[in-house]
Amino acid sequence: MRILVTGGAGFIGSHLVDKLMENEKNEVIVVDNYFTGSKDNLRKWIGHPRFELIRHGMSSFHLILLTSTSEVYGDPLVHPQDESYWGNVNPIGVRSCYDEGKRVAETLMFDYHRQHGIEIRIARIFNTYGPRMNIDDGRVVSNFIAQAIRGEPLTVQAPGTQTRSFCYVSDMVDGLIRLMEGENTGPINIGNPGEFTMLELAENLINPNVEITMVENTPDDPRQRKPDITKATELLGWEPKIKLRDGLPLMEDDFRLRLAVPRKN
Ligand code: UDP
Repeated sequence: MRILVTGGAGFIGSHLVDKLMENEKNEVIVVDNYFTGSKDNLRKWIGHPRFELIRHGMSSFHLILLTSTSEVYGDPLVHPQDESYWGNVNPIGVRSCYDEGKRVAETLMFDYHRQHGIEIRIARIFNTYGPRMNIDDGRVVSNFIAQAIRGEPLTVQAPGTQTRSFCYVSDMVDGLIRLMEGENTGPINIGNPGEFTMLELAENLINPNVEITMVENTPDDPRQRKPDITKATELLGWEPKIKLRDGLPLMEDDFRLRLAVPRKN
């Protein structure tokens, strides 16, 4: 199959490309503008006969599978979130550009599906972590791991009792591929229902001697988030396999390489 991956030089995109390239029948074309992605993430495929990389911004639309987000649920009043929940989103807040952008992307996907019969898939991705994550884009897992490696205090944003549910990237890619290959349009939640407060995340991280410092939060931060994955389990036969405590050290190894701070034994 010839497969186009938009954003394929990014964190999740590049792991998806690795998986797709394992199948010798697949040809993979990546289009990326390197806004957040990096050519480094695809280095091993450059020059491969079944692989092509195009630097380009996509002002048009994903035509096939849309990677939407748990942010469509906003600061959810229903917990855990299943796909029938319409969300609680502030339309004019600092997060709205992303949240409402993804919501309108879902709307457009469904309009094209209804009006033009275009086959679509929509995944709602919950917080994902793993090797190749951007070191400095401010996400909580990447911040905490980089801080722990550098011996800096972990910056827990107040109040620290807010929760997230973290999915390891290989589980995410497996879910996306199953959705793409199956018959269900979605939206379908793909995420790990293991839920942690930010304080629990900090406390369970790598080095127990690292300090924790409480810092100010950004507005409209969702207070709780946990996917209901009944649909993914029943329709795709999918469930995550990697527990947070097993996934974090794999990400730490990658961050240590990139930050050039070897593990002390
Ligand atoms: N967070 C934190 N310390 C950080 C970065 C983020 O405590 O250094 C918190 C943030 O307040 C939020 C959670 O971690 O409650 C997840 O934030 P992230 O930006 O990683 O993901 P999202 O909010 O998009 O789920």
